[in-house]
Amino acid sequence: MRNEDTNESPVCTVCGTEEFGDCGHLVADLDITFSECEGGALYERLFDFTTALEIVFAANRSQDFQSNFGFYARILGGLWHEVQDDAAGGPENIVVTGPIFLKLLIELLRDAGADEYQGPVIIDGGPGNSTSCMLYFSKNPETTIQEAYRSSCRGDLARRRRHPQRGSSGGRR
Ligand SMILES: [Zn+2]
Repeated sequence: MRNEDTNESPVCTVCGTEEFGDCGHLVADLDITFSECEGGALYERLFDFTTALEIVFAANRSQDFQSNFGFYARILGGLWHEVQDDAAGGPENIVVTGPIFLKLLIELLRDAGADEYQGPVIIDGGPGNSTSCMLYFSKNPETTIQEAYRSSCRGDLARRRRHPQRGSSGGRR
């Protein structure tokens, strides 16, 4: 794994080590090319995120996205479009995965305060076979994941986002 611009190893944004797999700050190691989580605190909790979504989708209540997921409703709408044909068969027939799901995870992690290592990060896999990665860190990855999970369920951050810069862009009178 290397930073494609500098050819150096990526480092933890919290403590600066290249051994970021062991320093305890890794929130998520995401493979963007194959839309997979490869490591970090999210890896252990990924099942919680997919299960929550699969239950909502299986209940066939896509209108709930607006009230329960707020800002994320648009991304979830795209995800719903992918799984709706399978949803009638129950949660076990739904597989939440792929690029839209990864995009949702990235939004959740960012909003929960995870720090993104400024890439581009790639893993060389021979000619034409490199994969791109994104790395997220925080001082307490468990807390960050819990925060991301809670906001995915309650839409807290959605409410906050509705007025992101309130008052700071005044002067239109
Ligand atoms: Zn660290």
